Amino acid sequence: MRAIRVDEVGGPEVLREAEVEPPRPGPGEAVVEVAASGVNFLDVYHREGRYGLPLPFTPGTEGAGTVVEVGPGVAGVAVGDRVGWVEIPGSYAERAVVDASRLVPLPDDIGFETAAAVLLQGMTAHYLVTDAYPVRRGDTVLVHAAAGGMGLLLTQLVTHLGGRVIGTASTTAKAGSARRAGAAEVILPSAVDDLAAEVRRLNGGRGLPVVFDGVGAHTFDASLASLRPRGHLVLFGAASGAVPPFDPMRLARGGSLTLIRPSLGDYIADRSELLRRAADVFAWVRSGALEVTVTGRYALSEASLAHSDLEGRRTTGKLLVVPGA
Ligand code: NDP
Repeated sequence: MRAIRVDEVGGPEVLREAEVEPPRPGPGEAVVEVAASGVNFLDVYHREGRYGLPLPFTPGTEGAGTVVEVGPGVAGVAVGDRVGWVEIPGSYAERAVVDASRLVPLPDDIGFETAAAVLLQGMTAHYLVTDAYPVRRGDTVLVHAAAGGMGLLLTQLVTHLGGRVIGTASTTAKAGSARRAGAAEVILPSAVDDLAAEVRRLNGGRGLPVVFDGVGAHTFDASLASLRPRGHLVLFGAASGAVPPFDPMRLARGGSLTLIRPSLGDYIADRSELLRRAADVFAWVRSGALEVTVTGRYALSEASLAHSDLEGRRTTGKLLVVPGA
């Protein structure tokens, strides 16, 4: 079968299409024919070697498709089932082998592309606004990279919960996408001298209760400076690089701030929580509270282009790798 194989870590060019042995299911596993694979920044971190995955590996941590084979001891999953999954590497391929206990059954009205586009980022947006910081009606919230995959979903959910979003985006076109998703204000950081001062100005001179920051190194200081006393920085990613070590006294000086660095895996650790979050996300899609915006579909042979587009800040919304394309 065809798959992307990473033989050495590095830039987008290390994503090479190759002919590989089709996977066979071990005990408790299922093999899925991949209809679509979500592209996530996590895949970039894996490709760069930040998570130390053993080589060679097939990247891609989110997918949807049809079960074609199950291994010994698998219960509740059968050949022909439509399923999705997250956080299991190997979805940039025609077939992927997945721990059957982590599969999410897809409702009939949720298409493969929608599932592959929304499961990982949708469940992340879900736990960020319900658990990492439960957004309340009337909260004004800063969302960095508000036109990105995560950003558009977060913006919609915060708005759905009655919050008001101040977003950041690097271009006016991206700012337009963020506004269409519900952002009340969008700041172009390159157009202002002091990002945190602009955030406060747009909030009547006050700091915010929470900042959702998936950009990391470039935004960390401004994020802290945008908070009110006892505000919360939810640092959920590092698209611009890792935040350097810092002195915790900065949290005290900012006004008894809290910092959380959460990770999706801890919020879908048991099967009931995984299925509950997935069901909520599908319900939001069904009701129109969440609109999933797929802006790029790439064949396997174009996976490196998908990564360079994502890292090059040329994208809004969600990208997919579609093995059958
Ligand atoms: P995005 O589609 O949001 O792409 C990243 C965006 O970040 C870019 O479009 C760009 O928007 C902005 N950005 C700012 N500086 C840089 C830079 N130097 N290089 C690249 N991008 C930059 O990606 P995703 O939606 O896939 O992921 C967003 C973040 O969410 C990532 O950090 C990811 O790791 C994190 N994440 C965390 C999870 C968790 O559970 N903790 C789970 C899922 C995702 P602009 O041009 O407008 O500035």
